[in-house]
Amino acid sequence: MNMDKINIDFFKNLLFSSKCACCNRLVDNQGLCADCWSKINWISEPKCRICGAPFVFEVDQICAACLANKPYFDKAVSVFVYNERSKSMILKFKHQDATYMYEYLANLMYKTAVNEISQSDVIVPVPVSFIKRLKRKYNQSELLACELRRLSNIAYEPRVLKKIKQTMPQEGLSGKARRKNVIGSFGIDKKFENSIADKNVLLIDDVFTTGATVNECAKVLKEHKAKTVKVITLARVIL
Ligand SMILES: [Zn+2]
Ligand SMILES: [Zn+2]
Repeated sequence: MNMDKINIDFFKNLLFSSKCACCNRLVDNQGLCADCWSKINWISEPKCRICGAPFVFEVDQICAACLANKPYFDKAVSVFVYNERSKSMILKFKHQDATYMYEYLANLMYKTAVNEISQSDVIVPVPVSFIKRLKRKYNQSELLACELRRLSNIAYEPRVLKKIKQTMPQEGLSGKARRKNVIGSFGIDKKFENSIADKNVLLIDDVFTTGATVNECAKVLKEHKAKTVKVITLARVIL
């Protein structure tokens, strides 16, 4: 390869390429490289009609967990399984100021949940506490929700749901402890409660682990007259 070709490639990359959202390898378009794309476990049918947990066998059913404890949310949809590859992508987005990723990630959410989005009236992100927000400088769910608003033209209300109680980090807690930990931690700002009354709400978060957080949010939204609550997350932990 001659020097001119190397130089042209170098400038072409500089102008038209971006880095893989997961491994930082240069890619032609904004998004994932072929290797990371192949290692992301995209969620498709068959899955639970309520919580979206993937099934191994072809059944149009409700999973055991949803049958035992019917969630407050009506449906949850996730883009991919939380595995090593998607975890590194989400952690980068969440903790390393990689806010430029929100457009790409929200686009994936939009394409995956276009039906649920089209049936919704208002987009609400899962809030983080004031302290966490100060520390992290942004709320990643808000960035995703805001971009989904731009893509869908649906109303957006980030102020209605509030984190009113400081909770322990959910990481490392069992399902039961997670549910207990989040009880009473979300509230509604009365000034904005009209924005959800009698509305189909789209609740946005980054990761669905046991569903405890989004379920608690859905409970509060329903208590304040939300008609339906559908949850869209990027990743879904498979227990
Ligand atoms: Zn990659
Ligand atoms: Zn389920």
